[in-house]
Parts: sequence; C-alpha cells; structure tokens
Amino acid sequence: MRQKIVAGNWKMNNTLDEGLKLTSEIVNMVNDEVNTDVRVILAPPFVHLTQVRGLVKDSEKISLSAQNCNENDEGAFTGEISAEMLASVGVQYVILGHSERREYFDETNEQLAKKIDIALANNLKPIFCCGESLEVRENGLFKEFVSNQISDSLFHLGEEDLKKVVIAYEPIWAIGTGKTASTEQAQEMHAVIRELLAERYGADVAENISILYGGSCKPSNAPELFACKDVDGGLIGGASLKSRDFLDIIKSF
Ligand code: PGA
Repeated sequence: MRQKIVAGNWKMNNTLDEGLKLTSEIVNMVNDEVNTDVRVILAPPFVHLTQVRGLVKDSEKISLSAQNCNENDEGAFTGEISAEMLASVGVQYVILGHSERREYFDETNEQLAKKIDIALANNLKPIFCCGESLEVRENGLFKEFVSNQISDSLFHLGEEDLKKVVIAYEPIWAIGTGKTASTEQAQEMHAVIRELLAERYGADVAENISILYGGSCKPSNAPELFACKDVDGGLIGGASLKSRDFLDIIKSF
C-alpha cells in the first residue's frame, strides 16, 4: 500500500504568528476530523520550523518539511541552510526542485542530484518536484522532459534510497494559476513516471513510491485528482494557507 500524502507548501507566506495560528488550527482539525492513514506534511519557511515543530511533534499524522536545502555540507555559503541543520531541528522532509527554485534560482537537475544526496545522508526524505512549462506541454515533449528531470536527479540512487523519495508532479502552467491539470492529464503523467521508475528499479519499488500532484489543487478538484490510480495525494500551495481548505483536501481521499 502506497502512503497517501497531502503536503502544504507555504512558500514565502505567513509571519511567525500567522504560521503558528494556522498550524494550531490544522493540528486540531486533523485530530478531530481525520481518521484515514494519510500523512500530512507542513512546509513552512525556515525561520518558523522550530516553533511549528513544537506544535506538531506530538501528532502522529503530521510531519515537518523544509522548502529547500543547500547541496553542501557546511561552510561559507552566506544565507544558506544545510540538510544537517534541518535534521537537527526535527525536520523530516525537504522539498527539492520546486519549479520556482528552478526558475528563479537557476537550480539544475545536476545540482538537485547533489541536494537529494545530502538530504538522504541526513535522513531527510526528499519531496522531489518535476513538471513542464506550458511551452513544453504545447510542443508535445512533456513526457520526455519530465522523465529527464527524474532520471538526471534521481537515477544515480540505489533502490533503498530511492524508496525514501516522494515525487511531486507539478505542471508549471497549473501552479498558482487556477488552471488545474485534468484528471486525464495528471493520471497520464503519473503513470509515465511510475513506468519510468519500474523500468529502472522494478515494478515492486515503483508500486510503492508516492507520486503527488501539485498545481491549483483545491477542495473542489482534489477528490477527482486523488481518485486517479497513480495519484497518491497532493503538494498544495495557495490552498494550504487556509486551514479549512487544507483540511478539506486532506479529507478528499
Ligand atoms: P498552488 O502551488 O497549489 O498554489 O498552485 C502548488 C505548488 O507550487 O506546490
């Protein structure tokens, strides 16, 4: 059975007070309303991690994620945060390769392979994001594009490490645009990704990797997306900033 996951990526939103209020609401609602085996992950900005951790550490269902880490161990990298630092404050997951990091901070597949390695070396589970732009979608080469992102950044991993990775397929044209991929588009790409993993690591491994959909996922479309055979949950941006919406998405399985 694959792990069902709903992860909230707050991006650069919420002051500390706002973030703690949102977290408390989510903790209470998850306690009261969620009785499925879904894993809920919160990914607040770095500076909130320690205090958010204080609120979620006793919850069996909620885990903590960072939104990025540096690919180096330590040293003179002003403004950067290492995987070891994240692990030292109780972070369990790290989002890597989000399209905004790729676009605005020029992160490459090769650099992301290093980030994946350092995260795993520090016992952080990577949530590895992939996805094509509108241009690539329209020129028809989106399957090849996403397959290359995955093989370039993940296929150096051995089987045991690969099993710790969560994949998030996020078509860039659907992120923050209100334009969601159709269930057919999402399922098609998720199946391509699972098949790619099966070719490299075998069907058993591929069957057990959680593949999340991201891009304008909200309470109204989450049920049909999550009902797709190869969609194991969502990476949620905008709708993760409102506790009620986020909870309704969590309850959409
Ligand atoms: P969105 O963002 O839900 O606001 O489209 C998703 C993401 O970027 O992870």
